[in-house]
Amino acid sequence: MNIDKESIRNHLTRNLSRDIFVYPDSLRFSRNLTFFTLKDYNEKYLGIMGQEEQIRGTGLKDQVGSDIPIESIKRYIIRLFERSDGSLKELLNIFPELNPSPIGAITSFGFGDRLGIANAAHIRALKEQKKMVPVLAQQSVRELSKTKKDFDTVIKQSMWNILQEGYSGKWGADADHIKEKEYFIKAAEAGMTMYTLDTSEHLDEEVLNMTSSRIKKNYQLDNKYIKKILKEYLDKKIKIDGYEIYFDEITLIRLALAYGRALKFIKEIFEVLSGRMEAFDYEISFDETNTITTPEAHYFIINEMRRSNISFTSLALRFPGTFEKGIDYIGNIEEFDRSINIHALICRKFGDYKLSLHSGSDKLSIYPSFVRNTQNLFHIKTSGTSWLEAVRTIASTNPPFFRELFQIALDTFNENKKAYHINLDKSIIPTSTESIKDNDLPDTLNDQNLRRLFHIAYGAILEKKEKHLMRLLFENEQIHYDYLFKNFKKHFDRLKY
Ligand SMILES: [Zn+2]
Repeated sequence: MNIDKESIRNHLTRNLSRDIFVYPDSLRFSRNLTFFTLKDYNEKYLGIMGQEEQIRGTGLKDQVGSDIPIESIKRYIIRLFERSDGSLKELLNIFPELNPSPIGAITSFGFGDRLGIANAAHIRALKEQKKMVPVLAQQSVRELSKTKKDFDTVIKQSMWNILQEGYSGKWGADADHIKEKEYFIKAAEAGMTMYTLDTSEHLDEEVLNMTSSRIKKNYQLDNKYIKKILKEYLDKKIKIDGYEIYFDEITLIRLALAYGRALKFIKEIFEVLSGRMEAFDYEISFDETNTITTPEAHYFIINEMRRSNISFTSLALRFPGTFEKGIDYIGNIEEFDRSINIHALICRKFGDYKLSLHSGSDKLSIYPSFVRNTQNLFHIKTSGTSWLEAVRTIASTNPPFFRELFQIALDTFNENKKAYHINLDKSIIPTSTESIKDNDLPDTLNDQNLRRLFHIAYGAILEKKEKHLMRLLFENEQIHYDYLFKNFKKHFDRLKY
């Protein structure tokens, strides 16, 4: 039965005596039923149109209001449902493609969505602009604790966004920056499909910059592990496209001491995950460290993982320069280019994983280099930039509330700073927004210092003002989506290959 969103909307508006918006891309068809997402001034719902017994057959129970007859089609009705966990469970039986799945080593882009409402705009931006697999449910433990969510909620919120936007392609769910085994298990239980292991607490970085005499003094070097590493690699030369990786004794001792414990942890978690599921994306990250990853370290880590039969999908390295969340790259672009060049060559020599760029929000100045050197095979993670567009939406639609949020961000600055590496001194932030005209408020979100201020304040802001914030974003949804769309268009424009 052919019926479009306009006639659905007309039926609903006529019968419910209030204005209804039906999301145009949300219409999905199965079992002679039409499924769609709609909203009124208060809430979003799932709608199903078709014959009553068929709607009953879906098993959905959380009905809202009474059935709405379709006068023009005999025996057809529209029934609305809550967007509840129970409804979602039944929908997944009908549309299994709503589930996330492992992506593998193909080009992908991570859209962290702290509020659970931005993925819709992410999908819109991606649909029109770039062929990449989206990772939609991407949250770190740090983010989950600040937003008071869990992995399960994050996945479900992404699914409702996917349903609303009619996306039916592959997508991933990334348990980001996990440092502890218990969180890997929690993520696996929730059904995440990508697991990003943060190695930072298992590294001994100090040894990388230590003189050989101090190393000899401080460490026992005749242990089994170091002997094994020396036997395997000593005096090995690996030629990669004109570049040579060479392992002398002190380099190897440093690598073994610095990365040995991390490699053990990577293996332990790999076994935990492969014991629980058949397929998953495994990302190993070294980015939140102080030492820039050398080509020798990269080669050594990958080769060791291979020797231990650890399969993985992507690798995040520490590149030269500073990667702060929500602002552009700080550093020498040519230096970054040289670094990514050799790392991409090593990656291609092994040939079965991709490089992942973390804190990828707004790093527009290095995107072209990253894409060119990786030959368009990569993963990029973003998150903070989407949160900032939510703040911009408030700035443009409710200036007094924005000024309140600014004050919260300012008052909680010292506390917020503890969780993030940022080079921002409170003294350079304006102490009030009084001198800024209402109309100019959205543009303050282009200022690097204010971006950093708001970026780290999301936990504090949500704690105090979540309800009001979410209400305003609901009321101004199209404006919020437009800001996000524009922002990601800017990102994708720099990813042309
Ligand atoms: Zn990272």
